[in-house]
Amino acid sequence: MSDSEIITHDIIIVGAGLAGTWAAMTAGEEKLDIAVLSKVHPLRSHSGAAQGGIAAVLNNVRPVEGTGPRGPLEPIPPGGEAVDSLDLHMFDTIKGSDWLGDQDAIEIMISEAPEIIYAYEHMGCVFSRLPDGRIAQRRFGGHSAPRANYSADYTGHVLLHTIHEQALRRGVKFYSEWYCMDLIVEENICRGIVALDILNGKLYTMRAKAVMFGTGGYGRAWKITSNALANTGDGVAISYNAGVPLMDMEFVQFHPTGLYQKGILMTEACRGEGGYLVNSTDERFMERYAPDKMELAPRDLVSRAEQMEIEEGRGIGPDSQGLYLDMRHLGEQKICERLPQVRDLAIKFAGVDMIDAPVPIQPTAHYSMGGIPADSNGQVIADADGTHILGFFAAGECACISVHGANRLGTNSLLGASVFGRRAGRAMAEFVKDGADLQPIHDDPLQRNQERIKHLMDGDPASNNHESVSRIAEELKGTMTQNCGIFRDEERLANAMRKVNELQERYKSARIMDKSGRFNTDLLEAIETDHLLTFSEVVVASGMARTESRGAHYRTDYPARDDEDWLKHTLAHKEEDKPKLSYKSVNIDWEKFPPQERKY
Ligand SMILES: Cc1cc2nc3c(=O)[nH]c(=O)nc-3n(C[C@H](O)[C@H](O)[C@H](O)COP(=O)(O)OP(=O)(O)OC[C@H]3O[C@@H](n4cnc5c(N)ncnc54)[C@H](O)[C@@H]3O)c2cc1C
Repeated sequence: MSDSEIITHDIIIVGAGLAGTWAAMTAGEEKLDIAVLSKVHPLRSHSGAAQGGIAAVLNNVRPVEGTGPRGPLEPIPPGGEAVDSLDLHMFDTIKGSDWLGDQDAIEIMISEAPEIIYAYEHMGCVFSRLPDGRIAQRRFGGHSAPRANYSADYTGHVLLHTIHEQALRRGVKFYSEWYCMDLIVEENICRGIVALDILNGKLYTMRAKAVMFGTGGYGRAWKITSNALANTGDGVAISYNAGVPLMDMEFVQFHPTGLYQKGILMTEACRGEGGYLVNSTDERFMERYAPDKMELAPRDLVSRAEQMEIEEGRGIGPDSQGLYLDMRHLGEQKICERLPQVRDLAIKFAGVDMIDAPVPIQPTAHYSMGGIPADSNGQVIADADGTHILGFFAAGECACISVHGANRLGTNSLLGASVFGRRAGRAMAEFVKDGADLQPIHDDPLQRNQERIKHLMDGDPASNNHESVSRIAEELKGTMTQNCGIFRDEERLANAMRKVNELQERYKSARIMDKSGRFNTDLLEAIETDHLLTFSEVVVASGMARTESRGAHYRTDYPARDDEDWLKHTLAHKEEDKPKLSYKSVNIDWEKFPPQERKY
């Protein structure tokens, strides 16, 4: 390894979304040498696409008296009675998680929520406001009080821009359009990463005293998804390959309202503001599935209801795979004021103006509850006993802390990424200031990755059959959608596993056409496809083993939740190239929030 190929920092953070940027900004207060890598421009991280809101109990609004829990909202006057509480937010989150969320971590997230909103506010974040200047709040699915704080439907954009500026101000160095290819862990100690400068194709070993992954979600393994092109689960796959276990990967959330055939998100705020879901017979079908919460039941339940309607022949559109989101009764003024972005998206991508026509929608792969197991300070754990991988941290959607359990509530994700990003930033700063040092690297990770790239450029010398990477990716998305989607059973999952293994085999003889060093997107797509295959195998294996239905994991052959056997987290380790599963207990306060039947 020549010196010119080594870069050194105190802390290296992969990911410039809310989690990575909070960590960098927070650790940056301590005058440490901090670098953030992002494979896309930092402000194009998927956090910036978040629309509907960020949860916190502020008690700024309540339903107008006498109109019931679904009535119109009004500001709570000074001294007026509170409708929300931290305990209620906790209970909603735990129930939403189908009791798989760790309650100690949930308590931390929810009690730090109000303060994190005010921290954003003090940094200049432009929230939507009530007439008296307080932060406006709206309803969201699975939350029993209005506690989504928002900026029209550009919430993520506004939050990310606000903290990115602050990270720059604190001297954080951003490596924009650098791609992390590998994580260096030897003897349970993290020593750095290997990264590719996308602009010129050069590989570097990057050494640091602490490394954090805030690499986001992985919806791109499904055909219809709300996720950005960059959400290919690199961080989880790289960690798994480096010997880190993955937790609860079977739990993948499908959002009820992606644009029909496109997957682009129509925020849940559409329903929070009062939108209806309607089938081909013009029926508001949620009445039959969740008579109390209706369209504002949690996402797993609403997506399943939609899929049932579709499978029973009440879908709309040429392939009958769609339904309608009807917003017309909200009126032009409300739509333009509260939901300008999604109105525009529906006009551009579906040719429909929601002011005067219902929008065709369908469920879309949206959020990954599982990921890299970490404690509430972001420290990554290596096993069910909670042994740390020293110097390795994770936060945000790639991490499983686990606050969302088997199903995340809307608006809790921007919150989790912010709270645990900040906590990981503090923990890393302490770790470094407490004397952590750069650790020697014994292997040659740079060479390993150079060979990986060469193999993709040259193809398999022993084979004349060169597979196309994009065909492999397409086939993977097809099987994950059909066999590992909203409804699963043993046969479908076994089909998915066979297909994933076949594609992994075919990938070995994949070859890319572009051999150049500069901005080689062909190469990136090939590496990302490798990552999709890697974590998809874990999703399917974890889902096959879990013979119950909980949250977003619904087995038609095991439709009931089974607390006796399955109230536990899945851990998947890579062993002899296959996922080996073990289990970890859930942290539950048996007095306060014992498991109950989940009804809405
Ligand atoms: C359309 C949409 C709307 C949403 N709306 C809401 C909402 O209203 N409320 C809510 O709470 N949640 C919402 N979510 C979920 C929420 O936005 C995400 O879970 C959250 O923003 C994730 O933040 P993050 O920091 O973990 O990752 P991201 O913001 O996804 O950032 C990931 C970062 O990792 C980098 N990265 C990844 N791999 C590599 C690599 N190999 N090398 C270098 N860099 C890499 C990327 O470049 C990026 O900077 C929404 C999600 C979507 C898709």
